[in-house]
Amino acid sequence: MPAARIMNHTRATSTSLVRPDIAALAGYVPGEQPQGGDWIKLNTNENPYPPSPAVARAVAAAVAGRTLAKYPDPVATAFRRRAGDVLGVDPDWIICGNGSDDLLTILVRTFVGAGERLRMPYPSYILYRTLAGLQGAGCDEFHYARDWSLDDGFAAAAADIRLAIIANPNSPSGTLLAPDRVRELAARLPCGLVVDEAYGDFAATNCLDLVRENERVIVTRSFSKSYALAGLRFGFAVAQPTVIEQLLKVKDSYNCDTLSIAAATAAIDDQAWLAANRAQIIATRRRLTDELRRLGYDALESQANFVWCTHPERPHRPIYEALKAAGILIRYMHYAGWGDGLRVSVGTDAEIDAFLARMRSL
Ligand SMILES: *Cc1c(COP(=O)(O)O)cnc(C)c1O
Repeated sequence: MPAARIMNHTRATSTSLVRPDIAALAGYVPGEQPQGGDWIKLNTNENPYPPSPAVARAVAAAVAGRTLAKYPDPVATAFRRRAGDVLGVDPDWIICGNGSDDLLTILVRTFVGAGERLRMPYPSYILYRTLAGLQGAGCDEFHYARDWSLDDGFAAAAADIRLAIIANPNSPSGTLLAPDRVRELAARLPCGLVVDEAYGDFAATNCLDLVRENERVIVTRSFSKSYALAGLRFGFAVAQPTVIEQLLKVKDSYNCDTLSIAAATAAIDDQAWLAANRAQIIATRRRLTDELRRLGYDALESQANFVWCTHPERPHRPIYEALKAAGILIRYMHYAGWGDGLRVSVGTDAEIDAFLARMRSL
């Protein structure tokens, strides 16, 4: 049988075997991750610098310590102690995950049941919609205003809304809602509010204080961006202990492995590395934003490690394609019912120089 016919046959069968809502679901498509090749990769907001050297030492020590034959600590106690010191919360306010996407999955599974709804702003991180779909739940997508503020309609009451999630700073815009505004929205919302701070370390402020004030606010953090550990998979959430207790029931028993716990503990212990990296990224972000503006783009002020830009006349997709042909990957984003634009991660100065040189020649 020709290969194409076998594949078609397989597809038809599996579609009828799985849950109809899963078969109908458009799966989340992450940014391109080319394996090999000599790309300048500015498309998925990884940190362009290597992580703290303490990370490699901690991983080597964990391997040498012969602990890999044993299961990891199910609740990553060593990490939670260290992170609690750094953030000024007790360890029982922290739950760890296999990247912050794992925490988002745990949160949606905990709060949102089949037939209920998740509220999110639009455009934002599309994964939230997928997570609601996996629950058999709906998604209430509330448009940002033109200036990327979020009006009170976002917090409007609705009987079937069980959770709201905002990315703050937001992706793709890089804009930030001030903590005072998030506090107001949290107070009005009829449900819990997750503040996804995957980019929080690059921003001027964050919403950790709101977690202390309000049981309904949960903050998530990632090690993929600010700690330069996207390949490792580690993130955590901060919430009041009564909430953490519920989340612990939903997570996989061993969702973080021995090596990632050791690495993340060493990484969060090196706050001097974080401060230096942050300063470098913010300096390069300033230069990237200014240069894009000089080239005629509307580049938003970013509080994250990427810059969102649009051009008043030129179509965006061909720009992405021309850069890709030259070995430079950025992100072309098109949001149905909203519009499109280009998101450029803050790379090293050399990477950004190469990107800007190519942009000038377009
Ligand atoms: C990158 C990103 C995440 C995922 O982070 P991981 O820790 O790598 O899973 C979550 N939310 C937003 C908005 C992101 O951009």
